[in-house]
Amino acid sequence: MMFVERDCCPACKSGRSRTLMTAKFHEGPLGDFLRTFYRREPYEGTYQLDECLDCDLIFQRFVADPELMADLYSGLARPEVDVPIPEHAGDTHELLSLSAFLHKPRLQVLDYGTGWGAWPISARKLGHHAFATELAPHRADWVAKQGIRVIADAEIASHQFDVINLEQVLEHVAEPLDLLSQLAPSLRGVIKLSLPNSRRRVIRELQRRDYRHIMPFHPFEHVNSFNHRSLRELIHRVGLKEVRPSLRHLYSFRSLSPKDLARPITRFHNPANLYLWAMKQ
Ligand SMILES: [Zn+2]
Repeated sequence: MMFVERDCCPACKSGRSRTLMTAKFHEGPLGDFLRTFYRREPYEGTYQLDECLDCDLIFQRFVADPELMADLYSGLARPEVDVPIPEHAGDTHELLSLSAFLHKPRLQVLDYGTGWGAWPISARKLGHHAFATELAPHRADWVAKQGIRVIADAEIASHQFDVINLEQVLEHVAEPLDLLSQLAPSLRGVIKLSLPNSRRRVIRELQRRDYRHIMPFHPFEHVNSFNHRSLRELIHRVGLKEVRPSLRHLYSFRSLSPKDLARPITRFHNPANLYLWAMKQ
């Protein structure tokens, strides 16, 4: 198993970057942090954070190859947290807002990188036609048993989706620009992007070998750290533009759960997380 080097920005393909920090995964304070986090010996290799001078993306220069990626996401890396995720009311509210925004009571939806399938399971309960992709075979099998149509990446191109959900996905993939370019032709409605917001002050901590707040730059897993600018540039590059639902669309769930009225607002304005909807230009 090994790492592959990304020698240009994975969001804009620029070759102009500067190195913010380097450390070894398995040595010193980073080795200690990863040993505690994964409860096993870390992979051997170099943790290097580079910043794109053209779009602001901060990215890990060395990322897992497909074999190591499968090992990471198979549930073997952190078996103690690899259990089905309970349904979240926020998913239902979000789907009601999307349905209202698109003026469609029945949506065809794709959850890309579904994990334990909480989002498409909520979609199916609302009567939508739910598809999902998932890297780990044991999770894919479980999700398929819940009535979700689990498809391979290669099959995406033969479908059209009203909603494509990318919940905590873009920060994980080696080639985010390629992924969005692959998904865009299958989009006839809204793509939702939700991912950690890159936090610049954390870089200074990491440079001092303080890894407590490393989450947006987590080794192996959060290999792309977007901010508002790099994310908007990325979506424009694949012919998408940001759309904002109205308050009426956002609050289409209000009769269902009147006590959750803050959620749609906090979701769009959470400083720790980027959240946006986009459509074709
Ligand atoms: Zn870039």
